[in-house]
Amino acid sequence: MEQLIQAYVVTFYTDKSQSRMLRFFVAAPSPIIACTRKEALTQVYLRAVSEYHRMQSAKLAALRHGESFLFEDELAAAASERKRAKAAALAHSKEHGC
Ligand SMILES: [Zn+2]
Repeated sequence: MEQLIQAYVVTFYTDKSQSRMLRFFVAAPSPIIACTRKEALTQVYLRAVSEYHRMQSAKLAALRHGESFLFEDELAAAASERKRAKAAALAHSKEHGC
């Protein structure tokens, strides 16, 4: 079976006068078929990270206003969801090889 392999030519000069050079053929990356499940899991993780940081900001704002222990439960829940979402994304990648 014939296979077409695309490659790039990379040239390095080994001196400042550019009289000596090395050339390499570097295989082009193979076309990657996107995994929609990985994309979805990554989006869930991104939202979880964003929510965690939003809760941290709310807690900091409360502390600055002298309301010391607000948002503890919300922050813990956001941390738990972030951890769960990360584990789900990593487990999928490991299982699926994507
Ligand atoms: Zn996948």
